[in-house]
Amino acid sequence: MGVRADYVIMHANELLTMRGYSNKPKVREELQDPGIIRDGAVAVKDGRIVAVGTTREVLDMVDKGFEAIDASGMTVTPGFIDAHVHLIFAGSREDEMEMMIKGYSYLDIKKKGGGMNRTVMATRNASTDELIAKTLRILDRMLLHGTTTIEAKSGYEMTLEGEIRELEIIKTLNKIHPVDLVPTFCAQAIPPEWEGKVDEFARVIAEKWIPEFLKRGLVEYCDVFAEVGFFNMDQTRIMLEACKRLGGKIRIHADWLAHSGGGELGVELGVVSADHLIHTPMDVIDKIAEKGIIGVLLPTTPFCYLGRYANAREIIRRGVPVALGTDLSAANMSESMQMMMTIAALQMKMTPSEVFSAATINAAHAIERAYDIGSIEEGKKADIVILDIPNHKFIPYHYGVNHVKTVFKNGEIVVDNGSLVKEAVRKLYSYTY
Ligand SMILES: [Zn+2]
Repeated sequence: MGVRADYVIMHANELLTMRGYSNKPKVREELQDPGIIRDGAVAVKDGRIVAVGTTREVLDMVDKGFEAIDASGMTVTPGFIDAHVHLIFAGSREDEMEMMIKGYSYLDIKKKGGGMNRTVMATRNASTDELIAKTLRILDRMLLHGTTTIEAKSGYEMTLEGEIRELEIIKTLNKIHPVDLVPTFCAQAIPPEWEGKVDEFARVIAEKWIPEFLKRGLVEYCDVFAEVGFFNMDQTRIMLEACKRLGGKIRIHADWLAHSGGGELGVELGVVSADHLIHTPMDVIDKIAEKGIIGVLLPTTPFCYLGRYANAREIIRRGVPVALGTDLSAANMSESMQMMMTIAALQMKMTPSEVFSAATINAAHAIERAYDIGSIEEGKKADIVILDIPNHKFIPYHYGVNHVKTVFKNGEIVVDNGSLVKEAVRKLYSYTY
């Protein structure tokens, strides 16, 4: 007795706490332990977790007068954290996926006017209201699928004004939507006006754009799409060093399409996360592990590009703290962390416990929020999801459907019985759709 609570979620068949890793991410066999409490309960007061334990333990701790929320037969997990999202864009690219299925190469598709610059043009031409309305629907779907915080990248306009606009939109959405957004500027496309002048483009981004984003307080991180055919390692270095010099933090797209050197450069510059790691040599993986850089693995990317997966088993064995993200973008359209976790399990051979650890506490480390979110522990934000499955191994076993029953964001119910609670989601939001 003595603890006051607004409500207690109780009798969870499995409560996945992820406890004990707020100060350092999970590595190796630690990823196998989601900190399960059977017949688990969690008490919440004023948006914060105030007690965690078995139902009996928690009921012994809390004073009467709370609301009881029954999670019998279900699994309770920290809200999912999506560590890698290309959030702001207009248009769609479903026809390109069909071309890919028919065997066209990326270059063929680009020649026919497809690829990233198609999205750059569509985004430049879209109004701010259109972009906000489109992105709100994405955030709604994320929430419906149990995602409560995301890393959110700009990068689909690639002009100074355009990127400021996208980052301003991210700032606005962070205020008006329950999903928390962590803003990143991502240098990811070479627009037509800069083709053949990429060295100069990288210098302009480093000397003019990045200082402006930081001065305006619009970004926490800068990220670069460091790949052959996009930004090479010298250009990437100039931009990331500029960000670091001005007190910003950095992350990198490393070795998705080929061994381009993003892993090595990330280690040298001290990125917070190195993402993809599909073609990174294992001696570089060792250095990433040594430095404690989070390896953000993105299984839906090879899934939807019909490509090669990261060697998750070896990356985990070598001690990289692994997190997961959807890599949602104009070309990779899935908001569902459950879908992504399923692919991580079935294609990258990560166990169910590993995918839950990587999608919660380790993803929180990837955005440096593990002190506040990513686990169900006293003092943390009440970002909690009730999944209508008896245990966590139902992901990946029962796949392709949404198991989310209830989502609590900052302690408030924003998804109930699988539907958005409109008043809770829209209370700050004047747009309608
Ligand atoms: Zn990406």
